[in-house]
Amino acid sequence: MTADPGTSRFELIVGVHDLAEEPDARGEELNSWMPFSAVEPLLATLLQYCRQSGTRLRVTSDDAFRSDIELLAPWLVRHGVAGAFFVPTRYLGQPGRMSGDDLRALVALGMDIGVHGARHIDWTAVSEQEFLDDVHEGRGALESILGKSVDVVAPPFGRFNARILDRLLAMGFRELHICRPGHALVSVALKPRNMLKTGNVPAVLAVGSRQATWRDAARCRLRPLSTRLRSLAGAS
Ligand SMILES: [Zn+2]
Repeated sequence: MTADPGTSRFELIVGVHDLAEEPDARGEELNSWMPFSAVEPLLATLLQYCRQSGTRLRVTSDDAFRSDIELLAPWLVRHGVAGAFFVPTRYLGQPGRMSGDDLRALVALGMDIGVHGARHIDWTAVSEQEFLDDVHEGRGALESILGKSVDVVAPPFGRFNARILDRLLAMGFRELHICRPGHALVSVALKPRNMLKTGNVPAVLAVGSRQATWRDAARCRLRPLSTRLRSLAGAS
């Protein structure tokens, strides 16, 4: 049975990185690399789960790998799945990465482009000014490439705290994508993402195969608060 995803309060957001068969990723980035030949059947399974449960599926990809435009975007278009691409702007044009033209092509295909900083630095580990400069440079570069405002953001490495969330919301971002498992509430800005990488596959399939529940909704709503409490306690 297929349900109508337009009526669901929930969406399933999946996160990927480099999907090239021969990785463009280097060093630590290789921990997030999965070849598209392994990812494609998983996405097909997740799409089937979402169609059965009436949950919207979104796929996001971080770090501007060229597999975004060469492999992932064609799959998304073919299957009518929404995509968002989080781009550290100083990576553009580097070997194995996309160009500004590629970003414009993604937007022409109906995809979202989001802020992921300029330098891909850990915003929780730098000064307030470095964090703000990195966001402003990344957002400004994307907006000048695309000629439109950019209002979705994903903190690099998924690292954030209450101060960073407050700042990003104050800057007018309407969606903040983080790297934590679970379903996302369509109406809430903080978006848990299920990161698809080697070792995480059974967990992502498990989330995708179950119905979203009030527990997911409560987690989306309470997460900013619990982050704030952990931050106040010095634990984040
Ligand atoms: Zn990243």
